[in-house]
Amino acid sequence: MIMTKEFICIVCPNSCRLTVTEEGGEITVSGNECRRGKKHGIHEYREPTRMLTTTVAVRGGTLPRLPVISREEVPRTLLGRCLETLYRMEVQAPLRSGDIIVKNICDTGVDVIASRSMNRKEV
Ligand code: SF4
Repeated sequence: MIMTKEFICIVCPNSCRLTVTEEGGEITVSGNECRRGKKHGIHEYREPTRMLTTTVAVRGGTLPRLPVISREEVPRTLLGRCLETLYRMEVQAPLRSGDIIVKNICDTGVDVIASRSMNRKEV
């Protein structure tokens, strides 16, 4: 059985159209203009991952929401669950850039951290 999927390579601005084909357990990539594209195509085919960036609600901060980012990429299939977890939570100011907001989010082994500092709001 032959499986084929198409992707746009996002490694550089060239945006090559990749075609990844699996036949008899062997994976081949075409459409890539360099080796990085081949690696990216195989990764996208086997286990696509993405960096997670969003905001979480802050109590007592100078802004209502805090930008956060995952330390590493998380499986793309778990992005929705991770975002739901973050949308439901609220953190307390003050916070420093790099503080851990959620450890091991959705059992991915990846921590989500604050991507900026947030002071407490003066009252
Ligand atoms: S295949 Fe190579 S040249 Fe093409 S977009 Fe990917 S990294 Fe850039």
